[in-house]
Amino acid sequence: MTVYLVGAGPGDPGLLTVRARELIDAADVILHDRLIPPGVLDGVDAELVYVGKQGGGPQMPQEEIDRLLVEHGRSGRTVVRLKGGDPFVFGRGGEEALVLREAGIPYEVVPGVTAGIAAPAYAGVPVTHRELASGVAFVTGHEDPSKPDTALDWPALAAFPGTLVFYMGVKALPRIASQLIAGGRPASEPVAVVERGTLPGQKTVLSTLGEIGEVQGIRAPAITLVGPVAALREQLAWLEARPLHGKTVAVTRARAQASALAARLRALGAEVVEAPAIRTQPLPVTLGDVRAYDLLCVTSPTGADELFRHLRDARELAGVTVAAIGPGTARALRAHGVEADVVPERAVAEGLVDALQDLHFRRVLVARAKEGRDVLIDALRERGAHVDVVALYETVAEPLDAATRDAASAADYVLFTSGSSVRFFAAAGGSLAGPRLASIGPATSAELRAHGAEPHLEADPHTPDGLVAALLADAVSSGT
Ligand code: SAH
Repeated sequence: MTVYLVGAGPGDPGLLTVRARELIDAADVILHDRLIPPGVLDGVDAELVYVGKQGGGPQMPQEEIDRLLVEHGRSGRTVVRLKGGDPFVFGRGGEEALVLREAGIPYEVVPGVTAGIAAPAYAGVPVTHRELASGVAFVTGHEDPSKPDTALDWPALAAFPGTLVFYMGVKALPRIASQLIAGGRPASEPVAVVERGTLPGQKTVLSTLGEIGEVQGIRAPAITLVGPVAALREQLAWLEARPLHGKTVAVTRARAQASALAARLRALGAEVVEAPAIRTQPLPVTLGDVRAYDLLCVTSPTGADELFRHLRDARELAGVTVAAIGPGTARALRAHGVEADVVPERAVAEGLVDALQDLHFRRVLVARAKEGRDVLIDALRERGAHVDVVALYETVAEPLDAATRDAASAADYVLFTSGSSVRFFAAAGGSLAGPRLASIGPATSAELRAHGAEPHLEADPHTPDGLVAALLADAVSSGT
């Protein structure tokens, strides 16, 4: 029976600590605020008690939170009190720990990455620096305006020899600036305000004490930094300098294949909406003796994986020439211990036909999806080969929930890596009208056109890497 006061970090789910993850997963009850990183509580098997602001209204009174903490703490269950950032930095964690101590309930404190350090770091501002700031002060910018005398000692803050980091100070920005100038800080002192730090849509405004009060449109949550270090962001901003920063990209391919593509897009700064419109489903097939063929054609990475569910191991293909439709399929085969003999330059069926041009085969097995195209099969038969086709799996619709569908429809880009992803995305009500449409190759583009939509870009080479490259080029040139 312990109550864990846990920091959830500033927003990027990757900044949650290992200990926090462990406790969230083990918790029976989680009492949490509003500023919890997105997705952190997804699929968690605990009772979730929201103790934050009530629908944009007032915050739940602290006494009520304290009462709930004690009540759950006494229930004998594992209780996590989850807070944004660090629980002991402007999080009232200290007060809650005192209440637990008073009630005789054991507690443990798990620090989190605090917004006052993380938001600057993601904006390219080191809060200390050997020459520019030998100290850093965390200050609350939130003060009750009706209070007659200010709780902050402005002259002392102005004289502080280091960086000032204000939490909760958006509304008070003009007053913070004027008080610091009145206290002797130069009006030219750099100020950076980091909005939604570490989250998609992070925005930073760099200004000066003299001018920051005039800047419009800054919204909470934001961290305000005052000091010469703020100007370092002109050289050190890394996140907002990424080519896809500020862009939302929806990925419609099957979940199993989406993650590598999503990771590449995130690394380029995009906010990724994973909206799998399709998934693959194995079909019941009996694969004859593959050794009877002199050529085996594999037309997708999934096809390669499915094939090996029917083979004992790679030795069964020892005497067979293996052709992969593209580099992704070749990679999947390699993972099963088979180096493809033929990989065309263009990763489409026509490319494979060309690559096989000068070779002669008698018996060919094409291992593929049920809904594959017939280009390759027809061409091989025309050349006199006996071709067997085995449909190892089929592509079926993956239901899209309304929120995901709407997020994808509102994205800057939607990525399609197959005709079926176009078909099922449209069937699920996804919009082909708003976002820029990115197609992996001619077959996918044809499917888009069949749905009355012209792709804005088509990858060449027709691979996920080619798609990312085409997207980058489009984002830079179209300025979207
Ligand atoms: N315990 C938290 C702070 C809670 S006070 C921590 O350690 O970070 C809430 C204030 O934190 C907000 O008003 C804002 O100033 C700051 N804050 C929290 N998350 C933020 C984010 N992602 N970006 C910028 N500021 C943030």
